[in-house]
Amino acid sequence: MLFVIRCLDCGHAAPFMPRSMHCPNCNSQWREAEYNLEEVAKTFPAALKDRSFDLWRYRELLPIHSPNPTLRLGEGGTPLIKAANLGNMLGLPNLYIKDERQGPTSSFKDRQAAVTIAALKEGGVTEMVAASTGNVAIALSAYAARAGIKLWAFVTSLVPGVKMREIALYGSQVVKITGSYDQAKQVAAEFARQRGLYQDMGARTVTAVEAMKTIAFEIAEQLTMEAGAPGSMTGGASKWRTPDWYVQAVSGGMGPLGVYKGFRELKQLGLIDRIPALVPIQAEGCAPMVDGWKRGLEKAEPVLSPNTRIETLATGDPGRTYTMLRRQVIETNGVFESVTDDDAFRAMHVLAKLEGISAEPAAGAAFAGLFKLVRNGVINSTDTVVVNCTGHTLPAEQFLFDDNWTRDVDYPRVMAQSETPQEGLLAALNNVTPNRFPRVAVVDDSPEARRLIRRILQSQGDFEISEAADGREAIELVTRERPDIVILDLMMPEVDGFAVLDALRGKPETANIPVIVATAKELTVNEKSRLQGQIQSLMQKGDFLNDDFLDEVRSLIR
Ligand SMILES: *Cc1c(COP(=O)(O)O)cnc(C)c1O
Ligand SMILES: [Zn+2]
Repeated sequence: MLFVIRCLDCGHAAPFMPRSMHCPNCNSQWREAEYNLEEVAKTFPAALKDRSFDLWRYRELLPIHSPNPTLRLGEGGTPLIKAANLGNMLGLPNLYIKDERQGPTSSFKDRQAAVTIAALKEGGVTEMVAASTGNVAIALSAYAARAGIKLWAFVTSLVPGVKMREIALYGSQVVKITGSYDQAKQVAAEFARQRGLYQDMGARTVTAVEAMKTIAFEIAEQLTMEAGAPGSMTGGASKWRTPDWYVQAVSGGMGPLGVYKGFRELKQLGLIDRIPALVPIQAEGCAPMVDGWKRGLEKAEPVLSPNTRIETLATGDPGRTYTMLRRQVIETNGVFESVTDDDAFRAMHVLAKLEGISAEPAAGAAFAGLFKLVRNGVINSTDTVVVNCTGHTLPAEQFLFDDNWTRDVDYPRVMAQSETPQEGLLAALNNVTPNRFPRVAVVDDSPEARRLIRRILQSQGDFEISEAADGREAIELVTRERPDIVILDLMMPEVDGFAVLDALRGKPETANIPVIVATAKELTVNEKSRLQGQIQSLMQKGDFLNDDFLDEVRSLIR
């Protein structure tokens, strides 16, 4: 026997009964799987070398006796993607994205569903109940469909219609609750009790936490491979690598709880030395954990009326999960943080435009949290960071856009006799591009800095961007092209930014072109006074994420 189920309250150990939800000794619902790691170490990790890269690769450390291949949908084994562009923008060269969108139903709940349904199938369950903010119910529904298990899915009426329809498509019964997610959980529990049905218990479901461990296993293996360990996969490395930080948006907090346990077991197996710092991110309008953390509380005060548009993150009462997670965050030197809905939506745009990754708002919150912690100096430029990107935004959330995000073209119906078909089309296409986009001149002697500014601008709209690599070139370029705005570096060899400014201000045709100075340098009082009245704005280079930069650009080109 490789594992027992250990009660976290009385310490009683019992064999795993997938249908039982309580400790047989004290009736507590808080239990976890405990493995005989000495026994596990006899085959693990050596056996990995012949296994495919999916969740069942780690079967010795999962609470399933004989994983049933017919239920599988390709769970786990998601890519760890190096985020070079975003890393460049943040000054974080070792930034990685664990792309959990690439699971069978596009969120990391696939892991939870795969292991839970496998266990319930082993345990003979045929009907079950789950409350969900959307993604759990979608994932459970998909796997329940394969296992022939009927699912009653209790969701709040705020869950997007597309998600509810997806749940129904798999054959689950959607029960829509008008109320908060915590209230939906109460209704679901009462329904399950009345009917004697198995109920998914979130973080108290042993299989769910166990499934989330595989995220930690995969990250450690993938970072080790990335570092070019000898041998196939991780077979040749004596130690596995871990990131310094693991960042994830949380609702109930089950994800980081499981990820922590995964790293803990790798440490107990001697495969890693250190558990990464955990960073759970919440939406400001529903942040009981962050609030408890900032006030030093061991128990979070429930948020009774969550006020966030990010329904996936709307657990108002994290209960004991917070207390457990808080201990782990303290132990790993991590931190809880919150972000606004708008921060999360902005981060979605940045992520999509810089990295080609379209994620749901909850994942946007994780990235917004990362931005905040980098900006506040909590996460350092040399740190290795992994962000869990879970949840795809397809179809893209409507509130992400203002009006006018499409350009509309009518196919030319009546063409004048004299017109050729091409001419009609050309006229119609006049609507597609305005006559000219705002023109920006970027002056910096560092090609990386120019590329970064170009990327940031392009991620936010249409600009015609020209570049100059030194002061002389800059004066020529600006005089010739009269851009709408100049973004100017100060420290350049020979003709520096101050000299460029003097030259531009000295000529009537360039005297009034707005200039934003972007500098890595701390300015002296004297230098600041030289810029006084000459420029529209001064930006520190590390500040580019600051929305002020883009607001400034937009306001100056109006
Ligand atoms: C479930 C979910 C979360 C929150 O995860 P927990 O670890 O359970 O708090 C975050 N983002 C997405 C997309 C999710 O589906
Ligand atoms: Zn007990």
